[in-house]
Amino acid sequence: MLAEGGPHLPLEAGSSVTGTRSGTCSVVVGCQWGDEGKGKVVDVLAAGADVVARYQGGANAGHTVHVGGREFVLHQIPSGILHPSKRCLLGNGVVVDLGQFFAEYDRLAERGVDPGGRIGVSPRAHVVLPHHKVLDEAAERAAGRKIGTTGRGIGPAYEDKAGRRGVRVGDLLDVRRAPEVVTASVEWARNRLRVLGADPNLVAAADDAIPSALPQRLAEVATDVGTEIADALASGREVLLEGAQGTALDVDHGTYPFVTSSSTTAGAAAAGVGVGPTAIDTVIGVVKAYTTRVGYGPLPTAFDEEMDTRVRQLGAEFGATTGRPRRCGWFDAVLARYSGRVNGLTGIAVTKLDVLDTLPEIKVATAYRLGDEPSGAFPSVAADLERAQPVYETLPGWRSPTNAARRKADLPPNARAYLDRIEELTGAPIVMVSVGTRRSQVIHWE
Ligand code: IMP
Repeated sequence: MLAEGGPHLPLEAGSSVTGTRSGTCSVVVGCQWGDEGKGKVVDVLAAGADVVARYQGGANAGHTVHVGGREFVLHQIPSGILHPSKRCLLGNGVVVDLGQFFAEYDRLAERGVDPGGRIGVSPRAHVVLPHHKVLDEAAERAAGRKIGTTGRGIGPAYEDKAGRRGVRVGDLLDVRRAPEVVTASVEWARNRLRVLGADPNLVAAADDAIPSALPQRLAEVATDVGTEIADALASGREVLLEGAQGTALDVDHGTYPFVTSSSTTAGAAAAGVGVGPTAIDTVIGVVKAYTTRVGYGPLPTAFDEEMDTRVRQLGAEFGATTGRPRRCGWFDAVLARYSGRVNGLTGIAVTKLDVLDTLPEIKVATAYRLGDEPSGAFPSVAADLERAQPVYETLPGWRSPTNAARRKADLPPNARAYLDRIEELTGAPIVMVSVGTRRSQVIHWE
């Protein structure tokens, strides 16, 4: 049996917790409603990193990465795994769907990307059990106010975590205790289903929730993530902390209640992997060159129907997890600026610039009108955001392809002007611009 806290406890981290370190730690965080293209940005930045760790969320995320003409869609495993030799970790802040995790693990191995020995999971991470998905759907059906969740059991798993009745990876490693903990969780779920007016028999028996081979497979990946990261930094290695979803989906700072159930913002990164906030050196915010949202809730800069359809087709804006069409809109600088502040951004990566290549003109929301005066503040109440009227600035389009650009100077002047304006309004310097799905289609901003 593995001790709680993983195999690396307790003394070896001594030097790293004192703060003596020479490696750098960067966070990559979404600054809109998710789907900003974090997977691509992490994939590019991972080339210079040694360790990539996810700090929150679960299989609700969907990172699509194109490598060498092949498409990989990852939900539970960090996209850094696509770089051979990188160590990829799931921190305590993640909720892990173990079925999905090992399915992705095996699929990657089949496609020649062997995660063996390169992936670790915190024993403190909570597990998404099959009944969390049943509860997710039942709660959505029963609620007067629909959130449009991904149905991946995320809300119920985080509810159990906060309710101190969750099942953690470490519980499943202890084969004597696991049945008791899982049975209690199953019973709780059945009772909840009764309350929600759903059939409790939709929940499988505890024995079915945990396949017999699981503890052994889990023991191979369990590790103390915080210690690994602290040690990596102490020995001069580069660490990338990868966020899922986006700032406007953060349970505190997002458009509550139309949010996910975790803290998506950069402040959660340290807590979600088990290091202190002083370990973080840089925070890269990812913004798409326009805005999208999947699920319910306000989207102030939403396009009219015609533009919505056009940009959705141009940008292939369909959910990587659910396949749902994403709602599309103009770049919202009020949200971007708010995200800049909430996350303490040191830089931004702008993605999918090429999607706007054919548009004659491009709008950017610089303020919202709620009362008489326009305001640059991002409302804390979703109902206010729902009635907010964006104040737009219109910029000329560039009407030429940008997907072959590899340097700033390759971009048409109007595209550069658009990016300059985004940078100015967001308040953080651009560090990278993505102009296509392939790894090579990126401009490192100087
Ligand atoms: P949940 O995270 O599945 O509970 O869903 C809550 C809200 O977050 C819904 O509006 C989802 O569509 C949205 N959401 C969750 N994960 C993602 C994501 O990775 N990208 C975009 N939206 C997401």
